Parts: sequence; C-alpha cells; structure tokens
Amino acid sequence: MEKTPPAAAVEYDPKCYLCPGNERAGGARNPHYESTFVFTNDYSALLPQTPQARGSEGDLLVWENEPGICKVVCFSPRHDLTIARMDVPAIRKVVDVWVEQYVEIGALPFIDHVQIFENRGEMMGASNPHPHCQIWATGHVPDLVAKEQNSQREWLHERGTCLLCGYLALERSRGERIICENDHFTALVPYWAVWPFEAMIIGRRHSPGIDALESAERDALAQVMKRLTSRYNKLFDAPFPYTMGFHQQPTDGQDHPEWHLHAHYLPPLLRSATVRKFMVGFEMLCMPQRDITPEGAAERLRSLPE
Ligand SMILES: [Zn+2]
Ligand SMILES: [Zn+2]
Ligand SMILES: [Zn+2]
Repeated sequence: MEKTPPAAAVEYDPKCYLCPGNERAGGARNPHYESTFVFTNDYSALLPQTPQARGSEGDLLVWENEPGICKVVCFSPRHDLTIARMDVPAIRKVVDVWVEQYVEIGALPFIDHVQIFENRGEMMGASNPHPHCQIWATGHVPDLVAKEQNSQREWLHERGTCLLCGYLALERSRGERIICENDHFTALVPYWAVWPFEAMIIGRRHSPGIDALESAERDALAQVMKRLTSRYNKLFDAPFPYTMGFHQQPTDGQDHPEWHLHAHYLPPLLRSATVRKFMVGFEMLCMPQRDITPEGAAERLRSLPE
C-alpha cells in the first residue's frame, strides 16, 4: 500500500481558474461566489451555433454535426473541499443547481439530452482539484444512454413494470451488494459491475429525472453521495478518483415513463491508491472480466466508517 500525497490543502489557490475572483483562460474573471458557480466552459467541446449538416460516403461512412452546450459547475468556493468533505446542506445546493441546469438547458429546442458528470482525481484526467463537475448537453441522445433507454423501454413494454424499480427491490431483498442507504436512495455495487468498486445510486421512488425529486429526496441524494464518497476515501486511506454521472430521461420533449433516475460511480482503483485496473488484452478484444466480485466489493465498502 503506497500513500499518495494529500489532496489540495489550501482553501484558496491564486493560480486556480475555478477559485472565486480568479481569471480564467480567455480573460473572464470569476465572481466572488459564496456557494455554487455555473459558467459556460471556456474550452467547450460542443457549441450551440454548430450548423445542422449531415452526409455520407456510400452507406459506409456517415457523419452528422452535433450542436450542444458545455458548462462547468463549481460546487464550493473552497478549493480544498470534495463532495465527501462538504456538509449535506452545501451538497443540497449543488443538487438544486443540477436540477436548474437540467431544466433550463433541457428546455432548449436543439438539446435532447443533458449529461451531468464529475471527473475526480488526476487518474481520471481531472486537471484541477477544485470541486466541480461538467454538463455536456447534446442534440442527440448519446449511445450508452440510448442503450439503457432501449432496455428500460423494452422491459416496460413487455412486463408493464420498471426495470430499475424491480432491480432495486431484488437487491434490497438480498442485501449482499448494498453499500449504504437512507429513506430515499440506495447505494450498491451493481450485479454487472466491471470496475472493482463500481457503484450505483438508485432512487427508491420511481422518478424519470432529477427535476422530479422532492425536497426531502434532494437532501437524501446529497446525504447518500457524501456517505458513498466518504467510504471510497477510506478504502485505501487516500482521495479516491472516479468518474460519476447521472442517467435520466432525455429532454427530447417526449414522455419517458421507462426512465428511472440513477447515478453511476466508475472508479479505476483496484488494490491500492496507486494500483488501478486496466481494461486491456481480452477485455479490449472480447469482454470485461472481474477482478473481485461485486459482493466482495460491497462488503468491503459496507464495513468502512463514513
Ligand atoms: Zn480553486
Ligand atoms: Zn422505476
Ligand atoms: Zn445508467
């Protein structure tokens, strides 16, 4: 077990482009914000003015322009905090901002999907330790989301029930893959986990999107996120890197009773703070394999203090 250097120890970093009052690339200056702060990404991968265009070469090569919007959400003015170290009321404010952004961006006629995601830690390519997430909104529903949508839709049409409501009920009756839960949300290692300590947060009430969460549910989401990431940090006694994000109904103007809001946590670590899982060889060519069982991962996470 190797120790990694501690995460950012300063509350304010004069060189950080996300800290209050600092200048960003391109010359914009952050306000002296006191809780959360949202701005359009200075290096947006997607632009709203992208003209509509599509084409193909024969039937083999098909392309299409993708308009979109990229935003950054700072969780806190404090450079040294993380979701695990913020208090629940402060995380609740972040949840409220996610709801606002999902509704506001999703209402734009050229946006059909809003992806909220956080890359945490250098191992996941996060260039800045300041607590923040990104929002990428696109004109199309992205592939992985469309795949989940098809599965949920087929299940609903064939059986008349929600796939994830059923899955959560089964997991709660068994208990062996549950990490922690509160009155409204359950954190578990999914049966199909590929990353060693992969997790999902699933809402107990059927909500297609984050905007359908009531006040007590938003508090509970903030609380379960803090509890899960606190356990992660204690696993190897080091800041735990991950990519996390929400999956929910697209904003394409249609009804999506099949969609059940959930969050995925996809952390790369396997054996220690420095030994990660690599998806190589057979996994790149054939299919993923598991290094540890989801039941074993859940048991280890469950046994840790929060
Ligand atoms: Zn900062
Ligand atoms: Zn459901
Ligand atoms: Zn999902």
